[in-house]
Amino acid sequence: MLKTENCGELRAEHAGHQVTLAGWVNRRRDHGGLVFIDLRDRSGIVQVVANPDIDPESHQAAHEVRNEYVLQIEGKVRPRPEGLINPDIPTGEIEVVADRLRILNPAKTPPFYIYDDRPVDEGLRLQYRYLDLRRQRMQRNMLLRHDVVKTIRDFLGQQGFVEIETPILFKSTPEGARDYLVPSRLYPGHFYALPQSPQQLKQLLMVAGYEKYFQIARCFRDEDQRGDRQPEFTQLDLEMSFVEREDVMALTEALMITIVKTCTICELYAEPFPRLTYHEAMTRFGTDRPDVRFGMELTDVSDVVAESEFRIFGSVVGAGGSVKGIRVPGCADYSRSQIDELVELAQGEGAKGLAWLALSGSATETSSSEEVEIRSSFAKYLSEAEVGGIIQRLEAEPGDLLLFVADQSDLVNPVLGTLRLELADRLGLRDHTDRTMAFCWVTDFPLFEWDEEGERWDPSHHLFTSPMPEDLALLESDPGAARGQQYDLVLNGEEVAGGSIRIHQRGVQEKVFDLIGLDVEEAQQRFGHMLEAFEFGTPPHGGIAPGIDRLVMILAGEPNIREVIAFPKTQQAKDLMAGAPSPVEEEQLEELHLKVVE
Ligand code: ASP
Repeated sequence: MLKTENCGELRAEHAGHQVTLAGWVNRRRDHGGLVFIDLRDRSGIVQVVANPDIDPESHQAAHEVRNEYVLQIEGKVRPRPEGLINPDIPTGEIEVVADRLRILNPAKTPPFYIYDDRPVDEGLRLQYRYLDLRRQRMQRNMLLRHDVVKTIRDFLGQQGFVEIETPILFKSTPEGARDYLVPSRLYPGHFYALPQSPQQLKQLLMVAGYEKYFQIARCFRDEDQRGDRQPEFTQLDLEMSFVEREDVMALTEALMITIVKTCTICELYAEPFPRLTYHEAMTRFGTDRPDVRFGMELTDVSDVVAESEFRIFGSVVGAGGSVKGIRVPGCADYSRSQIDELVELAQGEGAKGLAWLALSGSATETSSSEEVEIRSSFAKYLSEAEVGGIIQRLEAEPGDLLLFVADQSDLVNPVLGTLRLELADRLGLRDHTDRTMAFCWVTDFPLFEWDEEGERWDPSHHLFTSPMPEDLALLESDPGAARGQQYDLVLNGEEVAGGSIRIHQRGVQEKVFDLIGLDVEEAQQRFGHMLEAFEFGTPPHGGIAPGIDRLVMILAGEPNIREVIAFPKTQQAKDLMAGAPSPVEEEQLEELHLKVVE
């Protein structure tokens, strides 16, 4: 080794030791007589002093070095003089006095500072990702990611899981996204598909008798890059035989708790993790991935306003819809233009309008009800009792702004869900740097969603998800009402895992294929190998797949998954460092029997 010690591990007890260090110049300070170099390796930073009286040559060389030069330094550790101790860094009590300094490699001036985490344009960071990865923030994230994956391997190993790799060149998988295709050179016109997940393979491993499988699996989905997605991402893929929903959930919950406690200093918001049915999540939070760290839950006032003179409320309730509201604390003084913004947001989500009511006065004042003044878009059409009724139902206090949407429930809930998150953002209730980890489970999803365009049922998870045993008959009579044995794990309002108990009987699987409009021939062509395998003694089985990128992102307090992926693509699916995707040679295309059509 070109070094005997790691820079960041030197402490007061090393005083007097002769050490050899190697690393990068984090910063250099030339004080005329003395030159100070902060030398950095992965472990951290240590201060090196080059003193002309101790070694004139090293001192001369130290003058020449610049940031990011690679150095090897031999020297003696000594305590820093009283008053020069730096309590902000772990090595702050000592310094290394150089008696030999070798420049192992000079460096060009980097396009951005490595030594601090000041914001840099993301394009530049991704273009020079290897330099960006040198920065402390990224090193912290990469090491956390390593810890999380190691913890997963240790935990599942102890639970008797086997890690098995599955192919990347495979066949189209049914996660519902677009496949990445790889043309076959040997078989003209034939293609492999990159796996959207190892779903089929892990189920086949259950048929094969492995009972407990996992893999840190790369998945590929060619989706439009809306939101925070990557064309390739990593998930912990796991599957278990002879289990029920509770078993998979209990194992996953224990794993998540172990990860949080082993790898972070984060607090768990609630343990055991709260559970909500899909219906409950939608009615209380307006989303199937509720952020349960704060209140502002959706409250139904349909019964209070059913008879009201305010036509919209009355007619919506009359037509079987609902009127629901949220209570936004402390926002009663919102200006007209601030409220108009919210109205626009609601309309952008499909609402016809947004009714609002502001209760002036501050929540901390002990104001009697007469002093409270109401500003509202609709209160004048309501009776005093009705206004009082909704204020009471929402448990509103002076200073609150109440927002209402009236429509069919499947519209009211998501619109209010979006408003709830927007206002929580404004109130600083869902900061990504928050160190509280609020997990919750969402269960009892509908098995299918109706696809208006295709006029057929779409699986809401994937087509191997088993119906709830008690809903089996609904597959015939009312497929839309059938619930799946699906479970999603949500963390701080993000879906971090999804899984299900699978169908293991051929008859049920065929029924599902039928409902989603896969005819026998097509099903045979795409999933014939699965159907056939299921006839050879398939154990009841189920699994789950936590997304590692998203999980680590939240644990790291980062705003997007690119911050926890070493070499991510941009939101436009480009690799800015290597320049991918890129055109290829004509011969390569020919070999693959392909022609580019402009
Ligand atoms: N294959 C599923 C997914 O990637 C997870 C699972 O059902 O285990 O979302």
